[in-house]
Amino acid sequence: MTLRTRFAPSPTGYLHIGGARTALYSWLHARKHNGQFVLRIEDTDRERSTQASVDAIIEGMDWLGLDYDEGPIFQTERFDRYAEVIDQMLEQGTAYRCYCTRDELDAVREAQRANKEKPRYNGKCRDRKDTPEGLDSVIRFKNPLEGDVIIDDLIKGQIVINNRELDDLIIARTDGTPTYNFTVVVDDLDMEMTHIIRGDDHINNTPRQINMITALGKDVPKYAHAPMILGDDGKRLSKRHGAVGVMQYRDDGYFPQAVLNYLLRLGWSHEDQEIFSREEMIELFKIENVNGAASTFNTKKLIWVNEQYIKTLPVAEIAEHLQWHLDDQGLTIVEGDDFPTLHDVIEAHRDRAKTLKELAAGIRYYYQDFESYDENAAKKHFKTATPAILQNLLDKFSQIEDWNAQNIETEIKNTCEELELGMGKVGPALRVAVTGTAMSPSLEVTLDLIGKKRSLARLEKAVEFATAKYA
Ligand code: GLU
Repeated sequence: MTLRTRFAPSPTGYLHIGGARTALYSWLHARKHNGQFVLRIEDTDRERSTQASVDAIIEGMDWLGLDYDEGPIFQTERFDRYAEVIDQMLEQGTAYRCYCTRDELDAVREAQRANKEKPRYNGKCRDRKDTPEGLDSVIRFKNPLEGDVIIDDLIKGQIVINNRELDDLIIARTDGTPTYNFTVVVDDLDMEMTHIIRGDDHINNTPRQINMITALGKDVPKYAHAPMILGDDGKRLSKRHGAVGVMQYRDDGYFPQAVLNYLLRLGWSHEDQEIFSREEMIELFKIENVNGAASTFNTKKLIWVNEQYIKTLPVAEIAEHLQWHLDDQGLTIVEGDDFPTLHDVIEAHRDRAKTLKELAAGIRYYYQDFESYDENAAKKHFKTATPAILQNLLDKFSQIEDWNAQNIETEIKNTCEELELGMGKVGPALRVAVTGTAMSPSLEVTLDLIGKKRSLARLEKAVEFATAKYA
């Protein structure tokens, strides 16, 4: 039998970090066992489901590279099938019509509360034979009265629930629409799921779902409930902790691989390895090794992981992901005689940027002249001596025939010697002059990349600027 897993989000918001981790675990488990992975959109709550959320989920899955073999399958397209199964259960006697009114149910609940009992349906209509005219009815599942439901959870271990803890769940409302626990069961069976991997906020639903599956005469799949992700204050991760849709991580400059890697490690480990390629993830991941305890989200760690990718990924791959940020920041890369290749620029900058967003912002001066100097940088590094220093550099640089890092470095040293100034005086002024900022890779590399023509033009401009200021 082919192993099959699914990710079954409700489209009531973005694909958030917790959902993405559940999706990753399901995806990995399927890929590891040459199985199939299905995306199912649980959109039966029409009030709260939106097309924008569906789009965001699909976009997020795409960005993370969590490809699915089937789907997206929409539950709202399956109402006929749910109705069919409900009829079947009514016929078989594993479900029944309940005519209890709201007032009746409230009264039962009140009495239970007074007796300090757990509020639950009292089973009044369970064995009812008549069909009262003119009364609305819901349909309830006939949950077994005795015995235990055993979940051999692949993450949490064995969980035993006595059926006395469970009551007869409503599976269809008065208007005939099916309820959540029921549609999940029908879908998981029809879609031949062998493994249900989901968040442990669903753990209370599982015994009910298992009972329905058994009542339908089917084999119970295996379950794995992944623990919650907490914010650094120990509370469930939410928007307050900056937990946002996964696409926000793209916007903030993270690689999808870094996010996946971080999510994988959040609650799972393999020795002390921190970085895993997709292939390694698939090979090494074992759902049984996921930690049963909640884990804490840590942005610093995510940034660290991202940095490792910037440092080590092939430049072409960095360039691919960088493109979105270049577009977003309105920077067009023109490679040509006068401009450095993006490849060389990435190579020079990859050790200095934590995110792709930073990287894109930090390389603008190679491709565009700047209108003004960074105010703080100019204030700090342009001094009375600056015009003379820059003029001296300009003269020397003009003489360089072969514009390369080594020759540039030699001339910077010559200027220092001639003016009897340290690198600490010359370097920063030169950097502001040619980049407009106080940050860049080593000067000879930066100037080499900027090219002779533009380096000289910028120096000329800076001499003028500094002269006007300090004259
Ligand atoms: N639709 C449910 C949710 O978004 C998941 C259901 C499941 O995985 O069984 O929380």
